[in-house]
Amino acid sequence: MSLVLSDVTLSYPDGDGRLTALDRVDLTVGAGRFVAVTGPSGSGKSSLLAVAGTLVTPDSGTVVVEGVRTDGLPAAERARVRRDRIGFVFQQDNLLPSLTALEQVLLAADLRKGGRRAHRTRAMELLEQVGLADAADRRPHQLSGGMRQRVNIARALMGSPSLLLVDEPTSALDRERGRRIIALLAELVRDRGVATVVVSHDLDALDPGSSTGVDATVSMADGRIVRVEEHRTYAGARSAGTSG
Ligand code: ADP
Ligand code: MG
Repeated sequence: MSLVLSDVTLSYPDGDGRLTALDRVDLTVGAGRFVAVTGPSGSGKSSLLAVAGTLVTPDSGTVVVEGVRTDGLPAAERARVRRDRIGFVFQQDNLLPSLTALEQVLLAADLRKGGRRAHRTRAMELLEQVGLADAADRRPHQLSGGMRQRVNIARALMGSPSLLLVDEPTSALDRERGRRIIALLAELVRDRGVATVVVSHDLDALDPGSSTGVDATVSMADGRIVRVEEHRTYAGARSAGTSG
């Protein structure tokens, strides 16, 4: 399994007490599975991604990424797991204003593997796959919101992650563009066998289980997983399951 969260609880200081952001969460995502997480604002979706992405260590419970238990690892080792295995696409546009789309993707190249030419070829391939072959030389201000999100996706895939974590990728897009981004993500991760968790408070944008290729929808409320719905997709026959 690419991601296994078991009995994960996370709390934050809140006045005199603690606020429970994740309450005994179990979630398993296998290679090539595309899981949507939904729920109202404050239900713990981003916290779930932060824990899965080893950015935050839970109070209790275990986090296993591709067989490596990450909770309790020293920060430097967690950083290495992130670098080698995990891709992130965040809600906020974190592109650098002065760099072209190609340069943004190249920033994520693993300099220990391959030379400049190989990195460039790969970055161009990724830009092509996200529909931006003709926009490689554009800077963020010359790209639409949907295009910027596509650059983010290409960049996240540049490091060949086995786990992709995506937070509210459609929040700045209209419904049709949002749907296309989700369908694009599903296609890219299916081809590569990347386990993917996409968070969205707007389920309509995800259009789960139809042409967008979402395998399962996990619903959260008050830090808990309250519902897991499996969808029938082409990937649905795969053995990997989602439990909640
Ligand atoms: P969602 O992404 O579903 O909106 P979050 O995971 O961001 O939910 O937040 C879950 C709960 O944890 C909320 O009540 C939120 O206010 C709280 N929270 C999130 N991050 C922090 C933080 N860094 N410090 C304190 N409280 C936080
Ligand atoms: Mg959030």
